[in-house]
Amino acid sequence: MYRSVKEERMEKQLKGIVRTVIWAGVLLLVGSVLFAMILSDATDRAAAYQLHARTEEYSSRLYEQIDSDYQIMDTFASIIGSSGITDREDFPELLDQANYENDFLTMTYMDVSGDLVAAVLDQEVTQNNIQGIQEEARAVLQEAIEGRRGISRFFRGDLTKEDIIVYGTPVYQEERVVGALAASGRIDIFREILEEGAALEGSGFVDMIDMDGNYMTRSGNDNISAELTNVFSAPYFAEDEAAERKAEFQEKGRLEFSFRYGGEKYRGLIEAVGIHDWCLFSVLNTRMGSREIYVMNRAAGVLFGVIFLLMLGLLAYGCRLVWRNGKRLQRIAYYDPLTGAYNMLRFRQLVEESIGRNGSHYSLIALNVHQFKFINEIYGREQGDRLLRFIKEQIRERTKPGEFFCRETADIFYLYTTETDRDVLEKRLTELMDGITGKAAGIRGDYQLLMCCGAAIASEGETAQTLDETMTHVMLALTRAKDVHQNNVWFFDRELHRSEIMGNYVEAHMHQALEEREFQLYLQPKVDLASQKVAAAEALVRWIRPDGLMIYPDQFIPLFEANGFCVQLDMYMVDAVCRKLREWMDQGLEPFPISVNQSKRAFYETDYLARLTEIAEKYQVPPELITLEILEGFTFENVDEVNRKIEELQKKGFRVSLDDFGSEYSSMNTLGKIRINELKLDRWFLKDAAKGKENVRVIMEQVIQLAHKLNISTVVEGVETLQDHDLIRKLHCDFGQGYYYRRPISEEEFYDIYLKEK
Ligand code: C2E
Ligand code: MG
Ligand code: MG
Repeated sequence: MYRSVKEERMEKQLKGIVRTVIWAGVLLLVGSVLFAMILSDATDRAAAYQLHARTEEYSSRLYEQIDSDYQIMDTFASIIGSSGITDREDFPELLDQANYENDFLTMTYMDVSGDLVAAVLDQEVTQNNIQGIQEEARAVLQEAIEGRRGISRFFRGDLTKEDIIVYGTPVYQEERVVGALAASGRIDIFREILEEGAALEGSGFVDMIDMDGNYMTRSGNDNISAELTNVFSAPYFAEDEAAERKAEFQEKGRLEFSFRYGGEKYRGLIEAVGIHDWCLFSVLNTRMGSREIYVMNRAAGVLFGVIFLLMLGLLAYGCRLVWRNGKRLQRIAYYDPLTGAYNMLRFRQLVEESIGRNGSHYSLIALNVHQFKFINEIYGREQGDRLLRFIKEQIRERTKPGEFFCRETADIFYLYTTETDRDVLEKRLTELMDGITGKAAGIRGDYQLLMCCGAAIASEGETAQTLDETMTHVMLALTRAKDVHQNNVWFFDRELHRSEIMGNYVEAHMHQALEEREFQLYLQPKVDLASQKVAAAEALVRWIRPDGLMIYPDQFIPLFEANGFCVQLDMYMVDAVCRKLREWMDQGLEPFPISVNQSKRAFYETDYLARLTEIAEKYQVPPELITLEILEGFTFENVDEVNRKIEELQKKGFRVSLDDFGSEYSSMNTLGKIRINELKLDRWFLKDAAKGKENVRVIMEQVIQLAHKLNISTVVEGVETLQDHDLIRKLHCDFGQGYYYRRPISEEEFYDIYLKEK
């Protein structure tokens, strides 16, 4: 289908919203990435800080352990030095006992000559020479003899059969070194330190390694390097960078690094302790290490995610809302709520757009149901609505690509097509109408549904036509089609074109014609069916042009109703009628009551009653002789107001008649409400009833009965034959009017025929 400016605007708005939300989303995304980066950096820094702090702490614990070991030894050394017990015979036993009282594995005393006494836990005390002991212990004792404290590397003790470390300290006597004291301890003590406090609270571990990266002792918390002998390998260092990082470490005595293991991120630190080539190798899980920041990071991530999803949701919701609202507004603005077809507004837009594309190569068709109001009236509004929906479906099924249609008001559908071949159009439209009237069973009951079409082929016009002109042509054609009482298509043609030209003539000459008295009074008798005598007459206007051509009211009354000139003409006719009545009365004749047709405009004029009264008084004509014929359409809109006016007229003596009942807005309902004196049944009733349509005859009968109950006299129009006459008599109608009795005749003729003899 075609897209309108409104739809495009809506789409633009929608795009704007989407763009804004997408930008907001991108900003949010960038923001969250930045935030995550800052947080991750903070996590790293926090982890590094923690790692340093922990490593330092472990380093000082090592020193503390060594210091406390030295302290024990120093105390013992000073006792030995000052007491001179080394010379005693039981010195070996004393040493053994002292060994039992502390945590050392062995204690060894050596004098300056190199002779030594060694006490080993749970073993005999041995006496030996420095040459007989292990190299690591010998070095420490040698250092002590030279007056320095010493500490050995880790090694496996021959006597203890365990991994041990040896401390050495000099023994002084009067500030002179007299010997050396050595003690060994299990290196397990260092492992215990490393595991103390569940090392880094379960978030990492600390091992001891040498400067080459070889493990000296391993913490039990180390769940990563159990299989490794050297740290300069995976997962700590990639193969290609291990050597380089090792060199870097050996140069600086300290190395920081990070690595991934088991999907987690770790930071590591290797730092020389300052004793031999001992180093602490610390590893910390960054996530566990800085838990708060990590949790914050995660929470922020989740929050951003939720906000992002929320925005997406909002966007989807917003789009849906705008879209649905747009659709709803569009439905209200462009669619007929009853049938779902386009309305007139949309139809016109589409036609104009289509003309813009294809030019004036198109046809417009108006499709109408005969006396649709009656279907509403008799079968109920619901049935009427169903029929309209059914018609819409039927039209929809038969429209071809590029064609579209709308429902205007009530029962009028318009159709646009680029088909301009008259025969093709006629065939298609006839099929459409036959399809509808044939299949409408169930909707119509036993009612014979009739339809008609008015069509205008725009390209047939002599000059390019505007859409409004084409619409007028369609309506003119439809008016003609309505007059044919069977499914039919009427094309706007030359004859209608002539009437259009006539319309132009009428509008151009009406004022002059009124002045020149070209509008003349014709009268048609009304026959009293009981007495079979002429009892009244209806005034009908005829426009006699100076060239003698007679123009019928059908050709100018609708125009005058549109341009307002009918107000003047109606008063002119009332004036003509009163003047005639006065003339007859002056001749001593008993006058017939005369009906005058009144247009809606005249009727609603504020000084309407005053003007009528003025005319009646001017000619001294009793208002009872004047019947004002109003059309059904009047009463349709505001019954109360119409009734108020009618009452005012009746108070003055005028009579009011409802004309053409059943032609368009037929409503039994209004008949019950409106306070008229006379009801005129449209000639179509009689026409259909005469054709043998039983339901129409029944309706007529009921209308007449109802009117009588309401004290309203009835007139049937269009009595053309004796059978018509007999029929309406049987229906107990009061008056008949029609060509059977007399065609409308000039006032002179009327006088000659009906009054002269009187
Ligand atoms: P209407 O008031 O329903 O008048 C009856 C119309 O039916 C008249 O047409 C009349 O000539 C025609 N007619 C009468 N008997 C028969 C018949 O047996 N068969 C057929 N087929 N037609 C019959 P007319 O005079 O052409 O008037 C047409 C309409 O113009 C009138 O319908 C009325 O509504 C309007 N009209 C006529 N004169 C005036 C007027 O002075 N003022 C206003 N406002 N409207 C007028
Ligand atoms: Mg009339
Ligand atoms: Mg009439």
